[in-house]
Amino acid sequence: MTKTYDAIIIGTGQAGPFLAQRLTGAGMKVAIIERKLFGGTCINTGCTPTKTMVASAYAAHMVRRAADFGVVDSGLASVDMKLVKSRKDSISGQSRIGVESWLRGMTNCTVYQAHARFESPTVVSVGAERLTANRIFINVGGRAVAPRMPGMEEVPHLNNSSIMDVDFLPRHLVIIGGGYIGLEFAQMYRRFGSEVTIVETSPYLARHEDEDVSTAIREILEREGVNVRLNATCIGFSKRGEDILAHVDCDSGDREVVGSHLLLAVGRRPNTDDLGLTEAGVAVDKRGYIVVDDHLQTSVPGIWALGDCNGKGAFTHTAFNDAEIVGANLLDHDPRKVSERITAYALFIDPPLGRAGLTEGEVRKRGRHALIGRRPMTKVGRAVEKGETQGFMKIIVDAQNHQILGAAILGTGGDEAIHSILDVMYAKAPYTVIQRAMHIHPTVSELIPTMLGELQPL
Ligand SMILES: Cc1cc2nc3c(=O)[nH]c(=O)nc-3n(C[C@H](O)[C@H](O)[C@H](O)COP(=O)(O)OP(=O)(O)OC[C@H]3O[C@@H](n4cnc5c(N)ncnc54)[C@H](O)[C@@H]3O)c2cc1C
Repeated sequence: MTKTYDAIIIGTGQAGPFLAQRLTGAGMKVAIIERKLFGGTCINTGCTPTKTMVASAYAAHMVRRAADFGVVDSGLASVDMKLVKSRKDSISGQSRIGVESWLRGMTNCTVYQAHARFESPTVVSVGAERLTANRIFINVGGRAVAPRMPGMEEVPHLNNSSIMDVDFLPRHLVIIGGGYIGLEFAQMYRRFGSEVTIVETSPYLARHEDEDVSTAIREILEREGVNVRLNATCIGFSKRGEDILAHVDCDSGDREVVGSHLLLAVGRRPNTDDLGLTEAGVAVDKRGYIVVDDHLQTSVPGIWALGDCNGKGAFTHTAFNDAEIVGANLLDHDPRKVSERITAYALFIDPPLGRAGLTEGEVRKRGRHALIGRRPMTKVGRAVEKGETQGFMKIIVDAQNHQILGAAILGTGGDEAIHSILDVMYAKAPYTVIQRAMHIHPTVSELIPTMLGELQPL
């Protein structure tokens, strides 16, 4: 027998549960389906566990630096990886339980726990059951790519999910991929006490950032003893006894890296390959991302795609914003669009990178007549007081209309301070609004007005 709902939501990641609340709140009968862990990637194998581990790594780092602050540590501090993991499991587990109980307690919401697959544009199978609705929302997220590299099948390897079970200290962690995920794991494991080598195919870490940002990130990591191998154009693996040999064809240095454990952080792919999208007639692009319009509707009327699986974002905040956009369009007669949002994200190494809008490189490429302001963190009082002066901030504004085009704050508090810039960008207000604002002393944010008073032609 087929059960009928007003709406079906596939996946309980960062968009599905909030959307379920909105739809049930509007009186709809909703089915929500989860095949694995409630809360999806962010809560279980992404943001939450990594940020709890980044916090443990920061604590270890500060213990080592205690003497710099006049704190004398008479004991021998060490990192207990079992305790680091259990703290992580506890925080992540509480979030997972929170999402599950929220959904199970939601009036008019029925939770199914099985793999969902389309049978037609309006019918979804869930295990032995069949559900139907005129509105179906896909929020299936993504998973780590397992690249085909020579020797891959001969060596054991970790990804962002399996590394969550590690409760010991890898002697030497080799990380393939110098993007955001690889960089966060690199610094945290180095701070836990592992030797760490990052192998990256491009000439830069965090290669989508400006060269000055990327270089500063590399310096921050190298200063802590992380080995960085760039331009690794030909990566392969083999076993040598207990060790893993990563063959790297780099411009300089040894052509092999010998490690004890291997982490692959080379990208993500959408979970759209076993979803019956052909049966539903939903179009995907050549990388498997579901094609959506500015309101997140797919090629089939009545089916929407939200979060990482639509390729419009790769963050928790973009997935959540997708749910806000769909909810506003369906329930509030508010035609919100994806194209209205401004690029914003952070890289949670220490110090973090907060980013908003265009990079300097993108502004130059577009040939915009622009002005730029820069300030090293050595000239930010709060950073000096905290003994955390690595990094810099920069901001780019349109020379004609004075609107802010983009900014990067790589430095202590950069992940928070970026938001004052982001909000003024959303307001489409001129940069002079921040320049004339009185910010609180002593903060990183208080130097943003000063930086804006020293703009130079780009
Ligand atoms: C290591 C790491 C660190 C990260 N750190 C950050 C960060 O600090 N900040 C940030 O903003 N983002 C971060 N991200 C990205 C963030 O986790 C994702 O962008 C976000 O989780 C995407 O949410 P989503 O709702 O699209 O999908 P997901 O959270 O992946 O949820 C999808 C859900 O759908 C379920 N599902 C899939 N297929 C089916 C099916 N056929 N039937 C039933 N259920 C199904 C899955 O089991 C899953 O629970 C990180 C990611 C990783 C890997």
